[in-house]
Amino acid sequence: SAINFDHYDEIPIEVTGENIPLPINSFTDNIELNNNSTKTYLDPLLIQNITLSRFNKPTPVQRYSVPIVLNQRDLMACAQTGSGKTGAFLFPILSESFKSGRKPLNHDNIENHDNNIPFPTILILAPTRELVSQIFQESKKFCYRSWLVPFSVYGGTDIQVQIKKIQKHGCDLLVATPGRLNDLLNRKVISLKGIKFLVLDEADRMLDMGFEPQIRNIIQNNDMPDVLNRTTLMFSATFPKDIQLLAKSFLKNYVFLSVGKVGS
Ligand code: ADP
Ligand code: MG
Repeated sequence: SAINFDHYDEIPIEVTGENIPLPINSFTDNIELNNNSTKTYLDPLLIQNITLSRFNKPTPVQRYSVPIVLNQRDLMACAQTGSGKTGAFLFPILSESFKSGRKPLNHDNIENHDNNIPFPTILILAPTRELVSQIFQESKKFCYRSWLVPFSVYGGTDIQVQIKKIQKHGCDLLVATPGRLNDLLNRKVISLKGIKFLVLDEADRMLDMGFEPQIRNIIQNNDMPDVLNRTTLMFSATFPKDIQLLAKSFLKNYVFLSVGKVGS
């Protein structure tokens, strides 16, 4: 399903919030540095991987989300299916992560933790196995030749096999359905204490499918860093009351972005 860029200039865009960064126009846009030199907004390795994917230019939701997330702002984005939302969260998150490299956790009580328990720095929640698989495939493409190990988990498969694989390969970026992630958390085979980026993709569908208690449990009843110590992004096709409430409880001072006509 290729993206049709023909009518993008006519698509209505609404963006609200404090100090909203300007959108990028291309994946290779530069930031001005003090010493008159420039460097690209996105990490060069990520730009290479975007080029390998034959993505020539960013879609509207990507143009806005990249600088918003690179400026460490939370984001509530509403856009239709097929508007490029996966790249909208992967590009800025991966760019930041490639730059920073894998850092050891600086926890006071690190000795108390089993070193074998992986602690991803990026968590992406999505409602179904199909969506989790799609996001995982895109993550693999854009993580190519980087230090980041993506991993996906979902229900309907042998949990013991998944646990063995996580322990063997590690996991820096985790894509998960809420149910299966809760199973893994209950078994204490994965820890959320290192999360720097949390993404709720297709949030409206996750609520329609009854995942709200599971999502709240993941975010509130585990060792996930609080809202001030992580960047949180929510994506949804619609913006009804229950999504607004979810955004209120899990995002801070967020930028609201809506691309195209969005139902409520
Ligand atoms: P959404 O999550 O909004 O439904 P996706 O992220 O799944 O949209 O993207 C829809 C399709 O468009 C995918 O096949 C994806 O590879 C492609 N795509 C996304 N961004 C771009 C881009 N900037 N240029 C070209 N194709 C893109
Ligand atoms: Mg999507």
